[in-house]
Amino acid sequence: MDFAGNDYLGLAQDPRVCEAQAAGARRYGAGAGASHLVSGHLEIHDALEEALARWTGRERTLLFSTGYMANVGVLQALAERHTALFQDRLNHASLIDGAALSGARSRRFHHRDAIDLASLLARSECVHKLVVSDGVFSMDGDVADIASLVATCQRHSAWLMIDDAHGVGVLGDNGSGCVGSTWNSAEVPILVGTLGKALGTAGAFVAGDAELIDHLIQFSRSYIYTTAQPPAIAAATLKALEIVQSEPERRAQLNATIAYFRREALLLGLPLSDSATPIQPLILGDEARTLSWAAQLQQRGIHVGAIRPPTVPSGEARLRITLSAVHTRDHIDQLLAALTTCQREEAMCLTHA
Ligand SMILES: *Cc1c(COP(=O)(O)O)cnc(C)c1O
Repeated sequence: MDFAGNDYLGLAQDPRVCEAQAAGARRYGAGAGASHLVSGHLEIHDALEEALARWTGRERTLLFSTGYMANVGVLQALAERHTALFQDRLNHASLIDGAALSGARSRRFHHRDAIDLASLLARSECVHKLVVSDGVFSMDGDVADIASLVATCQRHSAWLMIDDAHGVGVLGDNGSGCVGSTWNSAEVPILVGTLGKALGTAGAFVAGDAELIDHLIQFSRSYIYTTAQPPAIAAATLKALEIVQSEPERRAQLNATIAYFRREALLLGLPLSDSATPIQPLILGDEARTLSWAAQLQQRGIHVGAIRPPTVPSGEARLRITLSAVHTRDHIDQLLAALTTCQREEAMCLTHA
């Protein structure tokens, strides 16, 4: 049983998505054969970019081979020595690496703290300011306070970039994420989404105004100097996107599973975090304890992530449990039973000691 992956809607295994990928390969070949700007950009890539733009309510989108490359490519293309970058302390590693590559002056603000951000912005003398945050935080499952970020950025004339890797497909009425249909491109000018998580395939996109996308095409080195996304992946992603939009019951099912897990885990006294998304960390604190719980779960055929520093702050080692629309009640009950055993054995050890 997989409680570690990011395939939140079960689309990686969906026969329709797999068949679209196979059909895409038969029609276009196994690979793109060249970069997007040379001859690797095919009509299927255009179709996917247009569908993603409609979905997120943006003028245009641009495909990247991975989310890591999208983040690095956006920051390298938009920021330079004279830019001031402001990042949430818990932002994804790819955003930190992109900032380093850009050569910009980078500062971190306290997690989800728009007041701390505002005070850093007020003190900055840079003309070009760019604020960057994850949409859903990948190790905690909590969601950025987009309203406060938008207001703070507007007050301080800063650009806002949201990396909604874990939000697209899962959050929002049409599944377009925590930004998608709620915040327009004047409010959140730079939106990044990934395709390897809820959409079940691979790759990423940046969504925004035509001007932004044109700039990225000209200057984003991780877009320019790499082979285009395999067209079969684009075909599979188009099918996945169609399913995300036409089957909202998948998101309803996922949300019911999240609610059930949280209700039962709370009754059992498990150390739940404040997360309403499929990412449900149990913060155990100690690294050895985290590894021991993960190993006990593994023995029962249950796979969860054992996340330790430096991926998370020290003293905050955790089991990263992720839920999916294809988990059944029975799967969740088995997970909860296994977690209860971990708890009980620990209590017994303590009594003996
Ligand atoms: C997974 C992830 C990425 C990287 O996406 P890939 O397509 O796996 O390279 C970027 N940002 C966040 C927040 C992520 O969770």
